[in-house]
Amino acid sequence: MRFASLGSGSRGNGTLVSHGNTTLLVDCGFSAKEAEKRLEQVALSAKDLTAIVVTHEHADHINGVRVLARKYQLPIYATAGTAGCLTADLKDYIHEFSCHEQFEIDDIEINPFPVPHDAREPSQFVFSDGGAKVGLLTDVGMITPIIEQALSGCQALLLEANHDLTMLDNGEYPDHLKYRVGSKMGHLNNLQAGSLLKKIDTTELQHIMAMHLSEKNNHPDIVKTVFSEALECEQDWIGIADQNLGFTWRDIA
Ligand SMILES: [Zn+2]
Ligand SMILES: [Zn+2]
Repeated sequence: MRFASLGSGSRGNGTLVSHGNTTLLVDCGFSAKEAEKRLEQVALSAKDLTAIVVTHEHADHINGVRVLARKYQLPIYATAGTAGCLTADLKDYIHEFSCHEQFEIDDIEINPFPVPHDAREPSQFVFSDGGAKVGLLTDVGMITPIIEQALSGCQALLLEANHDLTMLDNGEYPDHLKYRVGSKMGHLNNLQAGSLLKKIDTTELQHIMAMHLSEKNNHPDIVKTVFSEALECEQDWIGIADQNLGFTWRDIA
């Protein structure tokens, strides 16, 4: 199993998970045209995609979903709550899943789990080839026991480190946005992400990627410090998903 990112942050998200003949695009917050360009950078074409899996309906996750799905005839997987926010002309493309039930898309097994975030029915995922597990968690305001259980024992974690609390407090965001981002239905801060890493089983971990970093309220160096302390590893080992570049393919050994 391998994975890559087309970019991550409030200006657009797109994550790739691939195994055997199956390649999933998780969210497409970039315009379809931009997504096509970014797919080329990881040596893929949208024609190679099996399906689009959507975490929730915020624009930085669905901007390009409609055009891409229609242009390449890609099925869209979403919860009923998320699907209800997509345009009616996508009806024939949508496959609804429950946040509480495992499902498969061809060669990849998907374990969705619900998260606290200010969307209709947001879901995050653990992807598996039957052995290895890749856990994805972004757009989440607080950690729940369900999340801890789902992400324990993964070989790869793609984990939100949205903001540094002090930078958010002292930053230029208007008060309502500061409140939204920092709330229990908002985004995960560095320390919340770090304490999750300390709490769950990370003994099998081969890759840790910090996701959805705020460009205004965070810095990769702070994230690397917090994550490397939590995991007791070198800072160099911590990967950062860049807003513009994402990251290229990483393989699970
Ligand atoms: Zn987002
Ligand atoms: Zn969101």
